[in-house]
Amino acid sequence: MNESDLRAALTATTRQTVTHGLNKGSTGNVSVRYGEGFLITPSGLPNDTLEPEQMVFVDMEGQASGSLKPSSEWRIHRDLYQARPEANAVVHAHSSYAVSLSCLRRGIPAFHYMVAAAGGKDIRCAGYATFGTQELSDAVLIALENRRACLMSNHGLVTVGASLDAALSLAVEVEELCAQYWRASLVGEPVLLSDAEMDEVLEKFKHYGQE
Ligand code: 13P
Ligand code: ZN
Repeated sequence: MNESDLRAALTATTRQTVTHGLNKGSTGNVSVRYGEGFLITPSGLPNDTLEPEQMVFVDMEGQASGSLKPSSEWRIHRDLYQARPEANAVVHAHSSYAVSLSCLRRGIPAFHYMVAAAGGKDIRCAGYATFGTQELSDAVLIALENRRACLMSNHGLVTVGASLDAALSLAVEVEELCAQYWRASLVGEPVLLSDAEMDEVLEKFKHYGQE
């Protein structure tokens, strides 16, 4: 995709984080890899009125172009593109159930087979650090090791994907899993799938859907 197509796609995905109930106001941020860097949402502006020309290009040294400041979380996005060659898009959200569970500083265990959609047998919760810091980015990268999604303590969730659509739909799925885990936990202690059961699911996911 050329730059203007990517700006349009990034804008559409950012607006969809609102329509899917993942973000409200200016919470969260979204980016897509482009050239020797990435395009990212500007800091502190409402997600549902953003326009393609407001997306900010940031290079791998963290140098931003244009008049708008990039998202305060540009380090998380930059560090993920640097560490994960397969990542072409990143979604960060403050969705209600992910935030609620993240305040318990607990990840999501294998209570449902769809946990494997994030790439492993659980979805970890990154340690707490102030928003917009290198410390937070470091914690998120550790929690995302061999995974495509994690929670962030007292903050929200992050997903990475091969495309904007993949990162967005995983964020929707993780929020749903958080809601389901929350509800099940209200009634009792969810029964977890075994390592062997999750191994089977992870194997099956390699060929699941339309290839
Ligand atoms: P930005 O508006 O700077 O992206 O901040 C929102 C956010 O979610 C910070 O963690
Ligand atoms: Zn945030």
